[in-house]
Parts: sequence; structure tokens; C-alpha cells
Amino acid sequence: MCIVSSPGRGGLGIKIPRLKRTADSPIQRLEAPLRVRLSIDAMTPLVTAGDRVESGCLVAESSGNAHWYRCSHAPLSSTVSANGHSTTGQHENGNGSARSLELLIEEDSTPLGRCDHYHPAELDPEEIRDIARRAGLLGMGGGMFPTYVKLSPTDPIDWVIINGCESEPYLTCDHRVLLEHRDEVECGMRLAMQAVGATQGTIVTAKDDYLDGYEPRLIQKVLNRQVPKGGRPSHVGVVVLNVQSAQALHRAVCEHRPLVDRVVTVDGNTIQRPGNYVVPLGTEIRHVLDICGVDWDQAQRVIAGGPIMGSPVQPETVVTAGTGGILALSGDEISEPNHNPCIRCGNCQEVCPRALPSRQLLRRPTDQLLECIECGMCQFSCPAQQPILQEIRKAKSHLRDANDLNS
Ligand code: SF4
Ligand code: SF4
Repeated sequence: MCIVSSPGRGGLGIKIPRLKRTADSPIQRLEAPLRVRLSIDAMTPLVTAGDRVESGCLVAESSGNAHWYRCSHAPLSSTVSANGHSTTGQHENGNGSARSLELLIEEDSTPLGRCDHYHPAELDPEEIRDIARRAGLLGMGGGMFPTYVKLSPTDPIDWVIINGCESEPYLTCDHRVLLEHRDEVECGMRLAMQAVGATQGTIVTAKDDYLDGYEPRLIQKVLNRQVPKGGRPSHVGVVVLNVQSAQALHRAVCEHRPLVDRVVTVDGNTIQRPGNYVVPLGTEIRHVLDICGVDWDQAQRVIAGGPIMGSPVQPETVVTAGTGGILALSGDEISEPNHNPCIRCGNCQEVCPRALPSRQLLRRPTDQLLECIECGMCQFSCPAQQPILQEIRKAKSHLRDANDLNS
């Protein structure tokens, strides 16, 4: 069944096929790549070409006056081969240029092990935030927002919700992490509660509706609290973390382990060995797909993320903290947008969780478009199969550029 572009079903209550074919595939560690490329945009490299680094070693960090601190660690023992050069088309969004650090992986490099040092109960909130900050923890649901910032809300917080809804078709990596490492996720949740002063926490797994993973909807369903328009979950006393973000917090605090890898679902009809793999950050998607037995002749489109909210990428693109899936889709799994004329059915606005009049906003873009959460429901429900989401992403980027110029 084609799900990448609209199948032409409209109206509220729209069902998106789940296609969780890898739900029973246990997590495996992917064979190590020969090299990784870490994005160090807005960071200062701490190593130079020729340096040898151990796995977990800090290799770049943002300067003290950066708005948000970011840092990057070597995922495996390696030698620095290139330092801070500019590359094009190699990052998750597949375009633009970015500075990166290339590390050549040693043949006998082993992944970071466990070393229980801290007793989490002994830590105060500031210590937990500082560990999250120095471990380079980022939101792993796709947003890649620094975890330490999320754990520093200015509003009083009483609940932490771990979002395990994983609504996108194909993706099952969070489901497997919860199945195989639930104790680690629960520990991460308790640490997050400790950090923000929450007294209650819960892990929420798959709901029936694709949009149930959308934070305001999740909070409304679980706690019956309404996040105000333009507001954040913290405005109603809630912090929401992704499953793997919570696991990473546990590993950073209890095992002294920085963020160096993540579990990624690899799927699509062109893949011989679909499944859930632990992949070092900075690994090229080409390496992941080769190891999983992709048939490059049949792969019509490679997507980082899920088929609805994810982005088409090049094989040179690297895995980041936000890459939940790598899909190599065959011709029968996709269809190109048809660009048929709009029939003014209103579906796109009706299904939009923000009630945005997307067609009007694309004709005459205003800042209201920036409220779009890029859920893709408008495109999925459009009987004319218009590429609404792609156009929205372009328009949002132009609006942000224009706003930056005027500020
Ligand atoms: S992608 Fe944006 S405009 Fe489209 S339905 Fe989702 S929030 Fe609304
Ligand atoms: S773009 Fe036009 S045809 Fe497509 S859902 Fe919106 S109103 Fe309907």
C-alpha cells in the first residue's frame, strides 16, 4: 500500500496504516562503519586531524556564550581524519552546507560499556541537568532540542510523560527499546521527574490515532489539560520526553555515557534484513542500508524518519540523534504527488490539528504558517494529491529567513 503521498482519503477520523513490520525484530548492533561524520555546526572542534580519540571522548562543543550549549562525542575509538571542513548535502535534511568532523573508526573499536558510578537518588536537579548537558543529550523524537533545556522549565511541573506513541508507519525502534530496556526508560523518567520537581510520571505507548503522539493531544488525552495555543507543555505543568531521550538520560546519569548512538528502524520493500539497529551517530545512511541488504536498483526513495514526517535524503546523509528510521522504499510503496488542481474540499484544514488553512497560507504566507507542526495530515488527506507538506516546509524556511533579515 502506498502511504508516502495521499491515497485520497479525506475527513476527520482518517486512519493512517501502521505497517509496524519490524515490531518483533529485537534490537541488534549494526556492524561498525569505517568512518563517521559528526555535525559540529556552531561548535568548536577540540581535536585536530591525526588525533586519536577513545569512544565517548568529547570532540567538539559550543562556546560559553552560545545560546544553548551543544557538544559532540566520538561514538567509537577512532582517528580524526578531517576537521571542521564544509560539506554539502550530507546531513539529515540533505541540503545546505555544514561543518563536520570526520573520524576513521579503528578496526577493534568496541562500543561504550557500562560503569555504574552514580546513585541517581543522590543527585540534585542541577546535577542531573548538568550531566544531560555535558553528555550532549538531545530530543530523540526528531526535534533534537537539548534535553537539559527541557529539564530547566521556568513553570512549576507536576508531571513527566514519556511519549512512546511512535505514530509514524514503519517505525518500531521506540517500541523495541521499551520492550527490551523498560527499566532504563523508567529510570530516565524518574531522573527527569527529579530534575523538574514532578511528583508523577507515566509512559504512554501507541494510541489509535496518528496524532496522539503530538504533545498537546497526548497531554489532553492523558491528563485532560489543554496546552494553550502557541504554548508549551510546561505551561500546563508537563514535560514530555521521547522514549530514547529518557533512556539516554538514564545512561548519561547512571552509566556516565554520552549520547553516541541510537536505535533506528530500517525498513522498506527493498531491504533484505529489516529491523531495529543500534547505529553510531554520524554513520552514513549508505552504510546502514548496505549492511541491511538494500537493493539499490529497486530503491526509489530513501527517507530519514517516517514516511509522513520524514525527509527524502541522499545515501551520504548521516544518522543523527533525531533519526528514528531509515526507509528504502520501492516503487510500489510510494507515488509521486500528482499536483491535480485543488477541488476546495477543505480536507486539509479539517484534519489539521492546528486548524490551519494551509492552501490559503501557501498562497499568501503569514507567520501563522510557523504554527504548523509538519504532521503531514493535510497532504495525506488531500484527494488532489498536492505536495502540501513540502510546500509548507519551503514556505516556513522563507518566512524564517525573512524574519531573521528583519530582526
Ligand atoms: S502539516 Fe501543518 S498544516 Fe498540515 S495538517 Fe499538519 S499542522 Fe496542519
Ligand atoms: S489542497 Fe485543496 S483538494 Fe487538497 S485537501 Fe486542501 S482543499 Fe482539498
